[in-house]
Amino acid sequence: MTKYVCSVCGWVYDGEEPFEDLPDDYTCPMCSAPKSAFNEVCE
Ligand SMILES: [Zn+2]
Repeated sequence: MTKYVCSVCGWVYDGEEPFEDLPDDYTCPMCSAPKSAFNEVCE
């Protein structure tokens, strides 16, 4: 499963909902960085 990590604080999104399906105004719950600040992580 693809994960996304916040480039600002390192918080990893690992929710059930695909990251692509999150609303455009989604922000990091830790640092409030915008969705555009997240980077795809391949494991
Ligand atoms: Zn963050």
